[in-house]
Amino acid sequence: MRFPIDFAMSNAKHMVQQRSKGRKRYPTVLMLEPLYTCNLACLGCSVERHTGKLKDRLPVDKCLEAARVTEAPTVALCGGEPTLYPELGELLQGLFDMGKHVILCTNALLLDKKLFPVVPPNKKLFVNVHLDGMKETHDYVCNRDGVFDKAIAMVKESKERGYLTLTNTTVFKETKMDEVEELCEVLTEIGVDGILVSPGYEYESVEKDIFLTQNQIHEKFKRVRQLAKKYKLTATPTFLDFAAGLIELKCSPWSTVNYTPMGWKGPCYLIGENFYDDFETFWNSVDWDYWETRQNRKCLNCKMHSGFEHSAVQAASKSLKGMAQLAAWHVSG
Ligand code: SF4
Repeated sequence: MRFPIDFAMSNAKHMVQQRSKGRKRYPTVLMLEPLYTCNLACLGCSVERHTGKLKDRLPVDKCLEAARVTEAPTVALCGGEPTLYPELGELLQGLFDMGKHVILCTNALLLDKKLFPVVPPNKKLFVNVHLDGMKETHDYVCNRDGVFDKAIAMVKESKERGYLTLTNTTVFKETKMDEVEELCEVLTEIGVDGILVSPGYEYESVEKDIFLTQNQIHEKFKRVRQLAKKYKLTATPTFLDFAAGLIELKCSPWSTVNYTPMGWKGPCYLIGENFYDDFETFWNSVDWDYWETRQNRKCLNCKMHSGFEHSAVQAASKSLKGMAQLAAWHVSG
């Protein structure tokens, strides 16, 4: 199976429930960023996401309320670096008690100090380690020597201790696809439970010219489609077809709503045109019809997984053939 059955079933159940309520749009993942504090300053990260003060973090009760109100079955816990969140154990337990699956998105530097001694392996928890290439590339992207070696050591330890362990690789302009394959080989030998390879987003606040144009994304993701035949990639085949420029999709920014120390971020995980104090105001204020069509110039080169994976699943679910392909992909992992 590509994902544990419990995870796949909870997502399928959510889709059926939301559709039976007549909802055309609904969140599937809460991108929860309880803090904008980080122990790294990676080149591809927007400045505000790693320069926040710890004292400005969200309290646990606000995080849990956000998880309740969205109804999304999955919480991607990011930031900032979530292992720096002092109440991490309490937050995770609260989310598990609500039946949520949690994807802990981390640079892995503090897993041995802040996660392993505090939260035991749990079938609702995925440890998701950021790895943008082999040693030279990853240390360059993370702006610090030694990050790759530590992250790989933590991925191994995470697996040995019995945590469900994923990795997340962002593809930039300079990314060599042979190197991505080498990384997939290393991670497969370790036995990771899934590898996400996705295109980077060109934040206005990032000055370095490291991001891809649409054509460059298409070329690189034609290769990623090939890698998907060999390695356990977690992006669906329809998303990879889209990333390779073979099909078009509308965006689903509402599927991955983002709660941050500044409030609900709209219209999407990438663009903070406005921040809202409460979910209802956020949900009713963003012009979803407009943002779905990708006509804004900030959407021009965007093929982000957070915006399009839900669209890909919806597109595949429209036909019997697509559903059969999706089911075959799930069981082939
Ligand atoms: S296309 Fe990208 S930038 Fe535009 S709304 Fe969708 S996720 Fe956001």
